[in-house]
Amino acid sequence: VIRDHFAELVTGLEARLADAGPGEPVARKTFALEAAQLGLRLFSGEAPVAWCGVLAPFDLLHAVGFEPCFVEFVGATLAGNGAAPPLLQLAEAEGADPTSCSFHRTALGAVASGLIPTPEVVIATSAPCTGGLAVVEELARRLRRPLFVLNVPHSRHQAAVEYLAEQLHDLVGFLAEVTGRSLHPGRLREVVELTNRARHAMVEIDRLTRHVPSPARPRDLVNFALVVSLLLGREAGVRVTGAYRDELERRARDRSPGLQGERLRVLWLQNRIQFRSPVEPLLEELGVAVAVDELNPVTWPPIDPEDPFPGFARRMLSTPLVGGLAHRLDHVVRLARGYRVDGAVNPCHWGCRQGSGARGLVDRALREAGFPVLNLEVDCVDQRTFAEGQVRTRIEAFVEMLAERRPARELEA
Ligand code: SF4
Repeated sequence: VIRDHFAELVTGLEARLADAGPGEPVARKTFALEAAQLGLRLFSGEAPVAWCGVLAPFDLLHAVGFEPCFVEFVGATLAGNGAAPPLLQLAEAEGADPTSCSFHRTALGAVASGLIPTPEVVIATSAPCTGGLAVVEELARRLRRPLFVLNVPHSRHQAAVEYLAEQLHDLVGFLAEVTGRSLHPGRLREVVELTNRARHAMVEIDRLTRHVPSPARPRDLVNFALVVSLLLGREAGVRVTGAYRDELERRARDRSPGLQGERLRVLWLQNRIQFRSPVEPLLEELGVAVAVDELNPVTWPPIDPEDPFPGFARRMLSTPLVGGLAHRLDHVVRLARGYRVDGAVNPCHWGCRQGSGARGLVDRALREAGFPVLNLEVDCVDQRTFAEGQVRTRIEAFVEMLAERRPARELEA
């Protein structure tokens, strides 16, 4: 079923891209096409799949010859199609804790329904959440596949980089031992060069989206960096990031705002709501641009193609959701200032310690820096619990308050 869905998506997107006229925006469609092709490869049963935790080094796994993907991609994709509720019910009926993260519960439901293709290997990461680690371990157990766990330290010091880089070397050894797939240094260099090219375009995207008004259209960069991480080390990653850079550059040069009549700007914390909801259309209608998503900007330096393992490790450790909260708080305040936002929206994803658990400290850090926060009580995947009326009222009140503060902020600036 999922394979057919991706096959239809690929055909439809290819046709729309072929019909696109000159100057028409194509970056989002190019991104959606590459994501759909990835889905098709994963679910066709032909590729050697590696199901992973969200922080796994996907480019390294490409170099070894795998089609890797994080399990939350399944939860997000199914939620986007409105297909998550029956899988959530199934997972809960089988004992999954209904207070746990629904990205994971949906993936467990998909495993229980036989929708997840059997991988060659399973690679868990202990960050950004131990819930993810438990689910990936469970997937390995149920599908009876070999498991490797990457223990991501809660520090960014050199010793932590070396400790993680060493584990990545061990991972390569493990893959060779259990699958017979080995890593060729020349292939690894090629892959890292492709990663660095995509990274370079992403840095340009960060720079361009700082323009006021933003040249990005409201949904252009939804789920961007998370899904692009799956394309790193491939031409597809270079294609997608390059298409965005070129399109945003053109729009910024032509002074063509992504949202006509942008009057306020917000920072979106952590994940977007994955199912169809009125939140984004309402923000648009009220003239509010999501200027930046917390997880989109590049946080890692280029990777040395001659010695990439420390670079892969640094990239994993640079993620705002890894380690103590102080680093994340600095990151979100820096983004709020750099993108000149008026406030922030935190969906406080149910069951997530980063989303719900950290909300008080994130809220306080942003407020102290002068940025009000709207904490929504939502589950980003489980639409069964979405309280539309309440969410609408809270967004409208928040936007009204931001609009009232605007003249004072303009004077301060
Ligand atoms: S939303 Fe939170 S609990 Fe769920 S996968 Fe992301 S970090 Fe983990």
